[in-house]
Amino acid sequence: MNSTIQLYDATLRDGMGGGGMSLTAQEKLRVVERLDALGIDMIEAGFPSSNPKEAELFELLAAAPLSTAVIVAFGMTRRRGVSAENDEGLNVLAASIAPAVTLVGKSSPLHVEKVVRVSREENLEMIAGSVAFIAGAGKRALFDAEHFFDGWREDSQYALETLQAAIDAGAERVVLCDTNGGSMPSQITETVLAVREALPNALIGIHTHDDGGCAVANSLVAIEAGATQVQGTLNGIGERTGNANLVTINADLQLKRGIEGLAAENLARLTETAHFLDELLNRAPNPAQPYVGKNAFAHKAGMHAAGVSADPGTFEHIDPSLVGNRSEVIVSELAGRATIAEKGSLAGLDLDAAVSARIVDKVKELEHAGYQFEAADGSFELLMRRESGSYEPLFRLESWSVTVEQSADGAVASEATIVIWLGDQRYERRATGNGPVNALDSALRSAIVEVHPEVADVELVNYKVRILDESHGTDAVTRVLIDASDGERVWGTIGVGENVIAASWQALVDSLEFIHQPALDKKDGQP
Ligand SMILES: [Zn+2]
Repeated sequence: MNSTIQLYDATLRDGMGGGGMSLTAQEKLRVVERLDALGIDMIEAGFPSSNPKEAELFELLAAAPLSTAVIVAFGMTRRRGVSAENDEGLNVLAASIAPAVTLVGKSSPLHVEKVVRVSREENLEMIAGSVAFIAGAGKRALFDAEHFFDGWREDSQYALETLQAAIDAGAERVVLCDTNGGSMPSQITETVLAVREALPNALIGIHTHDDGGCAVANSLVAIEAGATQVQGTLNGIGERTGNANLVTINADLQLKRGIEGLAAENLARLTETAHFLDELLNRAPNPAQPYVGKNAFAHKAGMHAAGVSADPGTFEHIDPSLVGNRSEVIVSELAGRATIAEKGSLAGLDLDAAVSARIVDKVKELEHAGYQFEAADGSFELLMRRESGSYEPLFRLESWSVTVEQSADGAVASEATIVIWLGDQRYERRATGNGPVNALDSALRSAIVEVHPEVADVELVNYKVRILDESHGTDAVTRVLIDASDGERVWGTIGVGENVIAASWQALVDSLEFIHQPALDKKDGQP
């Protein structure tokens, strides 16, 4: 068993196959930045096609300063009856900005004959020719052996030949895929051991799906059997029942098996990174998710709670702070403060112990009211600034109002009026918009740009509303998340309230105030 493992994230490609999974190019960039900060080695970004959304993502990635992660483009081996040189998809991959390419090809004779309908020999040529073409274009080539474990059970000799074809053609690694997700751990162990014996010099990766409920277990046993790369997605999102959950795998590898994947200080970012993705997907994080769920270290029963207070080892399998989570019983004030102080220093703020403690209290209070700052980095920075005295308000509000009117022909018109103060000057502005929030935004900006022209560059790229069904008080509340961008950075802001327009107003104001704040000496590389 290897002591270090290469971590390969497929959230943005395979993960997006799940129902209701959709992210904009800007949001995908934010995910890439988080994965990079976490210390993930390789990030699969998808196929760099002419589809405008994918094309935009690869353009953004070309300009993104990543510290360690390698961007991987993903595509298929050549189509049948066409040479690799003349295959359109392969040419797109060869020309992409990604330094590495994962090519998926068939390893199961059943699929070769029934699905692709080519001879076994042509399939081997499709793999070899495609890998050679990509490697010849100067890319690091990885071969995803699709349906490998099913193929192995049908004809292990042929399944091996597909791997050998890829390796001979220049693939740096072959990835064994349990595409149907139905293999059991003992089958995975047996197969990986046999492949290693047959191909002792090959670098092996493992890619599993959770149809049999064993994706994480299958990944772990494959690593024990000699795989040195593990592929998965954040929170296990993906088609059907999902992919292997890379969050759980990371914690298991590090804390249970002593295998180095993430740096220890990055492991403590797991919880916030997992929640960040759920917030972007506009879904509630699973409270029962291993390691990072809200209930993962919650102790309800009196005896458990008493035991944990006396010695956390009695009812907790690990110290929750190792993965950035916390016990619901003993909230570690010290750990909380240290995390805040670190976040402050990343933003360029020097927070002393008293200020950090105040921020911890404030965050707890706001979380109780329905706020979540994982995807609202902009609002969180403003909060830290307010508590530490480095906050500069953009304007003073006197009042705002919105009317929404529907006429008999069905047309809906929104109009907003705002009254604000900039210095000792009073501004009253009215604007229409294609919705109440858009009208408020227009009215507010038309006043502010006269004094602060920089707010004209802020674009609201995303607006999301969620009704919180958990009872945070007496009534249901609405949470609004806005992503804003100035063309270089993207920041998230949040508003919460019983009224959706009022919650939107908070998030809107934060998105403009964020860019107005006095510059600080920011540290690079951390979102
Ligand atoms: Zn897959």
